[in-house]
Amino acid sequence: MLTAIDAVVVGAGLSGLVAARHLQRSGQRVRVLEARTRVGGRMVSMTTPHGAVVDLGGQWGGVSHRRFAALLDELALATYPSHYLGQGVFHWQGRRVVAPLADRFDQSLLFFEPEALGLPSDELAASQGLQRAFAELVARVDPVQPWLTPDAQQLDRLTVAQWTQQHTAIPLAQLPLDWLCRVGGSGGFEPWEASILHLAWTQAVAPQAESPEAWLVRGGAGQVPPLLVDALEAGDPGCVQLGQAVVAISQNAAGVTVATANGRLHQARAAIVAVPPQLRLGISFDPPLPAAHRALLQRSPMGGMAKILAVYERPFWREQGLNGLGIGDRPALDLTADSGPPEGAPAVLASFLAGERALTLGALPAAERRQMILSDLVAYWGPEAGEPLDLIEQPWNAEPWSGGAFTSFVSPGTWTSHARLAAGEQGGPGPAAHGRVAWAGTEVSPRWPGYFEGAIEAGERAAAALQKL
Ligand SMILES: Cc1cc2nc3c(=O)[nH]c(=O)nc-3n(C[C@H](O)[C@H](O)[C@H](O)COP(=O)(O)OP(=O)(O)OC[C@H]3O[C@@H](n4cnc5c(N)ncnc54)[C@H](O)[C@@H]3O)c2cc1C
Repeated sequence: MLTAIDAVVVGAGLSGLVAARHLQRSGQRVRVLEARTRVGGRMVSMTTPHGAVVDLGGQWGGVSHRRFAALLDELALATYPSHYLGQGVFHWQGRRVVAPLADRFDQSLLFFEPEALGLPSDELAASQGLQRAFAELVARVDPVQPWLTPDAQQLDRLTVAQWTQQHTAIPLAQLPLDWLCRVGGSGGFEPWEASILHLAWTQAVAPQAESPEAWLVRGGAGQVPPLLVDALEAGDPGCVQLGQAVVAISQNAAGVTVATANGRLHQARAAIVAVPPQLRLGISFDPPLPAAHRALLQRSPMGGMAKILAVYERPFWREQGLNGLGIGDRPALDLTADSGPPEGAPAVLASFLAGERALTLGALPAAERRQMILSDLVAYWGPEAGEPLDLIEQPWNAEPWSGGAFTSFVSPGTWTSHARLAAGEQGGPGPAAHGRVAWAGTEVSPRWPGYFEGAIEAGERAAAALQKL
């Protein structure tokens, strides 16, 4: 079957749906092809057996996430502030410390008031010194063309672990950067898997200091994609098609032909591919992608990430003056965060098995892994944390149409070689468009890549680029 439309959008995640919405609003006929039998990709909610709605993928919005906030307004979805009232728990080398949060992330030790942690002053000084050195590096990074950063090549060949070790051997000093690699918003990688240039770039374009975990969507962020689909379908019934894995895109001067695994062909003037970078490798392009682009994709793995959601009868930690923010060196959970609304129900602690742990702990028998997770929840929040009503695990690396989470990273040396070549002279940070095929997906956004905000910006940009073709 051959169908004729203006544009095909590959992937019905937030980015693809936003791109489709823009194109449809400008009067174009769009077809969205989605491999899964659901929409939303990494933006998806579920209702737990005890009736709590939780986000299995992304959940937070940030102080400067204006596009995401505006979209929610348009969709009439409400938000509430993340619960940071009260003290958090810092777990370090077997010691549990209840401590207040700092006013500013960049003056904190991973959100905490450093002086309140009762840590040796020489270790704190080393930690603050390393954070200052990293902040200076972040300020020097070229956000659009990271390969133009002073000393880029050297910084791109040095892993985060090597760079921190060059500065200090004190484990506490290394913790903040290790943590940013694993569970910072661009995370999911280990400090030996990416370069210090890559980590500095993630903070230049998506700064933790701008509080990206400031608020949540009432009823779950996962409501957004189905609402976007409803609006698209109202304008053009049947325009979003599920179970349609795109396997090939060919193009000539007249337009593109997009083929799906089940043998359907869609002809259009142009296409937007809004899938995570590595999944682009599963699509056969004719003419083929430039070699540098393919090499870049081969060096752009998705992070290791399983999301854990523990649902409780009540937010018992709040009753003890605690805010649910737990950070430390526990064997399973680097982070826990209260994700419930101000009124307390549902009471939810969100946490992650991040980086290598997503896979090593993911390979353990389920009962053993559950025991480790519960033991860490108890270490942070006391015995009541060991008895959640529901304990949900969402292993993102096991999802073939995501491949991991939160987002992709690049292996050392990639920014200054293949990424530079794939972007072309004037471009960056993402690869250049491929003729009539434009790229979307959060990973190609110049700002907030890896986040909802970046997914929206990338979708908008791709739609604008297509209209110029
Ligand atoms: C556990 C977790 C926590 C996160 N936390 C946050 C957070 O708190 N705040 C935040 O802002 N962001 C967060 N994120 C990131 C956020 O979810 C993503 O940045 C965003 O949802 C990405 O949207 P996207 O459309 O770019 O990609 P995706 O959501 O990955 O969408 C891509 C779509 O393409 C489809 N697809 C892939 N290949 C093909 C193919 N060949 N043919 C057809 N379809 C295909 C996929 O099935 C998918 O639906 C989190 C993500 C995860 C997983």
